[in-house]
Amino acid sequence: MSRKKTKQRRSSSSRRKRSARFGEREFVQSVWRTMEDQARQNPALRRLHEQLGAEPVRQSMMLIGLTGGIASGKSLVASFFRKRQIPVIDADRIAREVVKPGRPAYREIVAVFGPVILKRDKAINRMRLGEVVFSNEPKRRLLETITHPEILKRINIEIRNLQKRGHKWAVVDAALLFESGLYKKMDKNLLVVCNPMVQLQRLMKRDKLPEPAAWARILSQLPTTEKQKLADCVVDNSGTPATTRKQVETLLKTLG
Ligand code: ADP
Repeated sequence: MSRKKTKQRRSSSSRRKRSARFGEREFVQSVWRTMEDQARQNPALRRLHEQLGAEPVRQSMMLIGLTGGIASGKSLVASFFRKRQIPVIDADRIAREVVKPGRPAYREIVAVFGPVILKRDKAINRMRLGEVVFSNEPKRRLLETITHPEILKRINIEIRNLQKRGHKWAVVDAALLFESGLYKKMDKNLLVVCNPMVQLQRLMKRDKLPEPAAWARILSQLPTTEKQKLADCVVDNSGTPATTRKQVETLLKTLG
């Protein structure tokens, strides 16, 4: 047989082998996906599967990062997710918890910033601490190096707990989603935007702030244009809550 023919035969047989291997892998993947879907819908099936000694069924839960500037409407959007029974992990709540007396972050903050940032009951005065770091970049960074790892640890625990419960979606509501790098862990990142003048009015009203102080807070944050570059989807909350809700519903439909 000529060299050329032998070479042709070898290459067609290796092509056949490659396509057989590919077909098998595709098949296993599709069975795996079906099992995941069934287990997600029916926790009893998942437990049965695990009791039979098979590999635990991997949970695939879609994580949605939710962020936006101060008073842009993150809490409003989060409330729409909750109404749809989609759990929301509130990074702000976690940030308050990790600095409670007795927690590792509490001890470090007091050691670094001193007792001036404590209230009478020895709890951290978050307002006071905020004022100390607001216009002092190195101090703000120092505070973040203490609190961010603790917050991320806690968020990871809550994500794992929701995964175990078989949720299809979970939302992580975090004002510093992009700044902290947390967005990289998310499947999709949703940015809430708002007309700056509307945002200013809402912030002044909600936090009872005079205009210059409200502007200072808005301008101290990463600009919306920068956040937009990292976001997968945007909800505009400049209008009524009903208009915003419709956008969230449409988004959920597109995410499946
Ligand atoms: P964030 O969580 O981003 O700081 P919020 O959801 O708390 O913002 O909204 C800021 C303020 O504006 C709140 O007082 C809220 O009630 C109000 N607000 C939010 N969205 C709307 C809206 N679409 N129409 C009117 N008021 C709104």
